[in-house]
Amino acid sequence: MIGRMLRALSLIAATVLLLAGAARQAERPILILISLDGWRWDYLDPAQTPHLHKLAAAGVRAEGLIPAFPSKTFPNHYTIVTGLSPEHHGIVSNTMVDRTIGRFTMSSATAKDARWWGGEPLWVTAIRQGRRASVLFWPGSEAPIGGVRPNDWLPYSDAFPNTERIDRMLTWLARPEGERPSFLTLYFNDVDSAGHSFGPDSAQVMAAAARLDGLIGSLIAGVEKLGLASRTHYVVVSDHGMSQLSSDRTIFLDDYIDLSTIEVVDWSPALQILPRSGSVEDIYRALKSRHPSLAVYRREEMPLHLRYRAHPRIPPIIGLADDGWSITSRARSGGQRGGDHGYDPFYRSMHGLFVASGPAFRRGAIVPAFENIHIYDLMCRVLGLTPARNDGDPALASRFLSR
Ligand code: AMP
Ligand code: ZN
Ligand code: ZN
Repeated sequence: MIGRMLRALSLIAATVLLLAGAARQAERPILILISLDGWRWDYLDPAQTPHLHKLAAAGVRAEGLIPAFPSKTFPNHYTIVTGLSPEHHGIVSNTMVDRTIGRFTMSSATAKDARWWGGEPLWVTAIRQGRRASVLFWPGSEAPIGGVRPNDWLPYSDAFPNTERIDRMLTWLARPEGERPSFLTLYFNDVDSAGHSFGPDSAQVMAAAARLDGLIGSLIAGVEKLGLASRTHYVVVSDHGMSQLSSDRTIFLDDYIDLSTIEVVDWSPALQILPRSGSVEDIYRALKSRHPSLAVYRREEMPLHLRYRAHPRIPPIIGLADDGWSITSRARSGGQRGGDHGYDPFYRSMHGLFVASGPAFRRGAIVPAFENIHIYDLMCRVLGLTPARNDGDPALASRFLSR
């Protein structure tokens, strides 16, 4: 009799525990990180962007998002998900050279080689702490970093249709609770492409921005339909802004140095040079103070605010063009037009977008421009994860969070 009662009691206790566990899981926050590549901070107001405005009104908007140097796609996307500056995570540019590994480019198989990717991206943090993560394009997501790949990921493809990206996100979110991802990323390159081709102030950029806003609207509607709105957070960012180029603002490198004596790892607007023949000092003397809009530094004398000295992949000589200038050679130049980025991140033109919304965020807050190294910590806080070591300041979170 007592035995039967005890068995019944333990059954009830187990059921209660199971239900409590399920409830806890059901309450788990979801965070969708969306990157709108090349979206300059000031596109939001002139473009037709009702959905982003609605998110901002219900959440937090920053006056700008300050990228890491160089203000290019790969270093910045990886800074956003690791909280590390490029000199610490090792993705020091879109193209780079490592003495032992070789050459890295965005499009090649190198993106799948974990040796390039330092630090711990948020999907790895999430998976290590028992969550699931689904990544629809993000630099680093194709490599097993620390031996861990996202639960869902796809090889990068520009051609993967945008509407299918939304459908894919919603399919992942529609899974049963135990298989549903807590952290998801989504990426669009349309605004960056239009900015490069037609310049930041073009009608094409505004049209691309409006299209992406519509896609975000359909994602939000889909999340609502799935009944997940009350625990879903959106963090919408861009990796950098965009500057207008001009053929009047061109620096021809071969006017100052014999190009056969150097290897140019990256051309413009952040010049990265290795010696081929001759010495680092020869290159430095040939280029230093030769053009008024080209600053030239030895690695160890890079300005401190750029945080670009520590990593061995940073080349010994770096040149930095002033805003709106481009660096090329007489042979390469086809006349500069359209837009570019990669400049000093503290130029206003390089600042990107930050809009975040969801139950953990303050409502209707506008915060000053801040550096993207702080976002990883903030996202960990929203998801209830313990962050890996990073360069962000956890004290900043209170500017963004409601609790
Ligand atoms: P950027 O000019 O530095 O802004 O680079 C933008 C380009 O990077 C985009 O147009 C894409 O083609 C490319 N890209 C973005 N994300 C990835 C990725 N995860 N893998 C490979 N290429 C990418
Ligand atoms: Zn970019
Ligand atoms: Zn770009």
